[in-house]
Amino acid sequence: MRRKLAAGNWKMHGLAADLDQVDALSVAHPAPECDILICPPATLIARMAERAAGSAIHVGGQDCHHADAGAHTGEISAPMLADAGATHVILGHSERRADHGESDALVRAKAEAAHRAGLTAIICVGETETERDDGRTLDVIGTQLSGSLPATARAQNTVIAYEPVWAIGTGRTPSAEQIAEVHAHLRARLVELIPGGDDVRLLYGGSVKPSNAAQIFAIPNVDGALVGGASLKAADFSAIITAL
Ligand code: PEP
Repeated sequence: MRRKLAAGNWKMHGLAADLDQVDALSVAHPAPECDILICPPATLIARMAERAAGSAIHVGGQDCHHADAGAHTGEISAPMLADAGATHVILGHSERRADHGESDALVRAKAEAAHRAGLTAIICVGETETERDDGRTLDVIGTQLSGSLPATARAQNTVIAYEPVWAIGTGRTPSAEQIAEVHAHLRARLVELIPGGDDVRLLYGGSVKPSNAAQIFAIPNVDGALVGGASLKAADFSAIITAL
């Protein structure tokens, strides 16, 4: 039985005052039936982890470097995230793949670094609208998955997030059939690629909100969500958690 995961990605949003959201969530979900994770900007990780101590809320990073330390100005390593109190890190988000040219090989190296530091890697895959229109969705996603998964990946340290690029922040979501097709494909590939692949959690991400969460969570092989915009307000994220 895969325990569900509601993961919030705050992206480049959040100041100290926004840590109040953690208090609201921990009061609303003292003993949740799913795992709850918030990935704030790096500047808030340590303070959020302190604020969330003793609650059911986990804190994660949004990226890490593939090296553990070194001359890489402006970068943050996986050991630094762990030291700040993070337990998870999002890797290969489409915004990083597009804005920073991150390749599958780089995402794999980052996931290895995350595992070395004891972090759970949330590896994102997803097709662009053109790739979907061209009928290449499953090929693209399969290639991203096999290229980004390190040999160290197991169900205990790895989560996969299917995030169609065209659904992120747009208010558009794939049909239930489209999500089901991709998640079934990812599940089959995971079973081939890693021992215990059937136990790896598969998240859907892309315009999840309170009004569509229950419908999305009812789709087979959807083990939770990676939520951007709707994770910024505790009330909305709380409603999504409740729908899981
Ligand atoms: C995301 O950035 O991972 C995401 C899914 O964003 P949104 O929920 O805003 O579409």
